[in-house]
Amino acid sequence: MIKYNLKCENKHEFESWFSDSRDFEKLKNKNLIECIFCQSKKVEKSIMAPRVVNSKMQNKKNEISINEMKKFKKDLQNLRKFVEKNFEYVDHNFANKVREVYYDKKSKKNIYGTTTEEQREELKEEGIDLVSIPWVEKDN
Ligand SMILES: [Zn+2]
Repeated sequence: MIKYNLKCENKHEFESWFSDSRDFEKLKNKNLIECIFCQSKKVEKSIMAPRVVNSKMQNKKNEISINEMKKFKKDLQNLRKFVEKNFEYVDHNFANKVREVYYDKKSKKNIYGTTTEEQREELKEEGIDLVSIPWVEKDN
């Protein structure tokens, strides 16, 4: 089991359990995840919560989670830097570019960009699985 902090388009935050990370995607694609406050189906994963919190940690919970969040954000910023350095940005043309790279076996290009849920599903049906990463702001 895995717990996700979820956030809807209206910035409501809530928690929900899933059997695994694919479970979330599956339910989301079927529009089975909705905000518990406003029933919006535009729900995104926020950050993963630690599975086990012992009593000692509980006392410092806020402190730890802020530090952890800082660290997490730093990791994401590093990830972003890595991607920007090593991957070619193709923006909204991403879905088409992915196909180009995928079907041209000689091409070893790393690309990144954005897709819609529909494009992502189409690519998945073609056997192209994508990794999505949270994109954090560079500063702050
Ligand atoms: Zn909501």
